[in-house]
Amino acid sequence: MSNCARLAGIKKVASMKGTPPQAAEHVSTIPYAEDVFSIKMMKQYLAKDTYKKLAATITRNTPLDASIAGEVAHAMKEWALDRGCTHYTHWFQPLTGVTAEKHDSFVDFDNGEPIMSFSGKNLIVGEPDASSFPSGGIRSTAEARGYTAWDPTSPAFIKRHGSGATLCIPTAFCSYTGEALDKKTPLLRSMQALSASTKRLMKCFGMPDENVTITLGVEQEYFLVDKAFYLARPDLVQCGRTLFGAASAKHQQLEDHYFGSIPGRILDFMHDVEIELWKLGIPAKTRHNEVAPAQFELAPLFETVNVACDHNMLVMETLQQVADRHGLVCLLHEKPFAGVNGSGKHNNWSVNYGKKNLLNPGDNPQDNAVFLTVLTAIIAAIDKHADLLRCSVASAANDHRLGANEAPPAIISMYLGDQLAAIVDSLEKGTAAAKKSGGVMKVGVDMLPPLPKDSTDRNRTSPFAFTGNKFEFRAPGSSQSCSSCNTVLDTIVAEAFDEMADVLETFPAASFHTKLQDHLREVIKAHKRVIFNGDGYTAEWPLEAAKRGLPNARTAPEAAKAFLKEENIALYEKYKVLNRRELESRYEIAVEDYTRRLAIEANMALDIAGSMILPAAKAEYSETLDAYAKAEATGIASGTAALKAEAIELGAALDALRSNLVALSNAIPGKSEGIVSAMTALRTTVDTLEKRIADDKWPLPKYREMLFVY
Ligand code: ADP
Ligand code: MG
Repeated sequence: MSNCARLAGIKKVASMKGTPPQAAEHVSTIPYAEDVFSIKMMKQYLAKDTYKKLAATITRNTPLDASIAGEVAHAMKEWALDRGCTHYTHWFQPLTGVTAEKHDSFVDFDNGEPIMSFSGKNLIVGEPDASSFPSGGIRSTAEARGYTAWDPTSPAFIKRHGSGATLCIPTAFCSYTGEALDKKTPLLRSMQALSASTKRLMKCFGMPDENVTITLGVEQEYFLVDKAFYLARPDLVQCGRTLFGAASAKHQQLEDHYFGSIPGRILDFMHDVEIELWKLGIPAKTRHNEVAPAQFELAPLFETVNVACDHNMLVMETLQQVADRHGLVCLLHEKPFAGVNGSGKHNNWSVNYGKKNLLNPGDNPQDNAVFLTVLTAIIAAIDKHADLLRCSVASAANDHRLGANEAPPAIISMYLGDQLAAIVDSLEKGTAAAKKSGGVMKVGVDMLPPLPKDSTDRNRTSPFAFTGNKFEFRAPGSSQSCSSCNTVLDTIVAEAFDEMADVLETFPAASFHTKLQDHLREVIKAHKRVIFNGDGYTAEWPLEAAKRGLPNARTAPEAAKAFLKEENIALYEKYKVLNRRELESRYEIAVEDYTRRLAIEANMALDIAGSMILPAAKAEYSETLDAYAKAEATGIASGTAALKAEAIELGAALDALRSNLVALSNAIPGKSEGIVSAMTALRTTVDTLEKRIADDKWPLPKYREMLFVY
């Protein structure tokens, strides 16, 4: 029974006597994974030997046997043709942050006769002319070709569009010289690194060799607005967020939207999204209203990390496409509306050894020892490399969210929950607190008290929280690919596991647990500053964090500098995840992306304020002046004072608007801080005018419409 149920005085229902009646097995009518070249389909379409080789690559990560490519390609084509596909594409994730595809039809000619063909080479490598993707200087135009390479561990799938269908093959994308130009390649490399380190660490505990699986479940937040409103807001169309908009009287104060009953039109939309996702083999599970009005969430069940990252890209795409069919627009921007919560992703991550989740404390002293070792290593990893984790979620859009008292702060800290924090504390101090019966707890000998898996008492202000059997990283932005932060997580934890193994391997068997306990104590002492169980929204926390020496990169360009730190380059090179050149290129791309997005927003703000708001303000001003002049001319004294006051105020706002416009225009060629503050000043003036100008003259849909009418 959960703590919560206990508090509510709910009594445990006595278990039923006898066996409950067995429900007849229900045959599902859900077209689950209908459009996926799944293990089941591979078995059906491939010869037994070929199937076995491919399955080994997929489930046990053995290298792909190139000799089977031709046969696999043929089977995949047959399967796709049976399902109406005419084209295929390598589907990849360049550093733009969105997915990319270049379609080719299966059509070919054999002695003048049209045939449908798809070769092993077509499956394994592609050569999209990729000179326009960001490469941060890696690829000069002379060597413009990028190569896509099949990732057999993420299943091929079919994208349907009207009456057509395209076979999509998940691929990595790299340059002629082998440098990664995408988000998948480093993730796959980091998975290999963590897999090797985990095996090494588990060997220290005498565990037999097993497969390592890194699992990820991504909760996705998003907004929905009616398409008619969206189309009337050039800022939403061009920037994905509103650059202007006064707060509506009611926004999220009443907290009545969160988990509220889902409006019919939205539920209809969600249902269609889920059916589409299920067809793609994406296990959509949870749906609910989020905190802000018009904000919602979708969460699938967890999967292997690279598949979950691919699937999250498809979730985002599906949300947007299905919304369009429902006359809605799905906004994935991190902060579409000021004054209400923005949207993020919760990255639920864990590492499994064979069938054992290493973040599950287990129920015997040996499992407890493994868990505490893994936990301690992760604490060290997060403390040592908080800058990399922060960097992995840095973007112009996420800057609006992190640290804005609705999302975790930009300071990376860890939340363990009271009970686990007490255990770690007593482990460090060698006190008895962790053991109910008194006496100091002995790692590997004593049992840990059971840890609650209750989600109710979670600290929502922490960026990195232990939630019973996984860590939940809450800083990623709603539009971001999860590949970046999981690449960091896998790599830094790989290093921490290796550092742990370096020491554990020297312990003689007889004193293993005593020495382990001493070592864990040392590591905790060195890294406990990153643990923070308090409220991350308070004004004291940044001060306290600074005292502890925790990094606090407030803006994306500042955070991106982590790519260039020598110790980070050394780490990434050691684990062959990214080399110096690849890291430098990623830094350049991050900074360039930030600058470009900011420039787009600044120019859009100028455009809207100059061509829509200014004319409306002038019309209102002129109408007021006319009325005042008329009142004066007729000699009617009443009303003239009010009209005069109105005209003066409107005139002043008009003056402010004009000077804000000039200031922003002057700021645009300069530094980003200047642009941001000029945009803020302009917004303040525009939002004030919104409340003063006649509703029928206001050229933009308002927050009270967009967020409440659907
Ligand atoms: P919340 O209470 O935050 O909504 P849930 O417990 O429902 O969280 O889980 C959120 C996500 O975490 C889901 O996608 C779920 O499948 C995933 N998850 C659960 N266990 C694990 C695990 N061991 N590894 C990775 N993800 C997990
Ligand atoms: Mg969560």
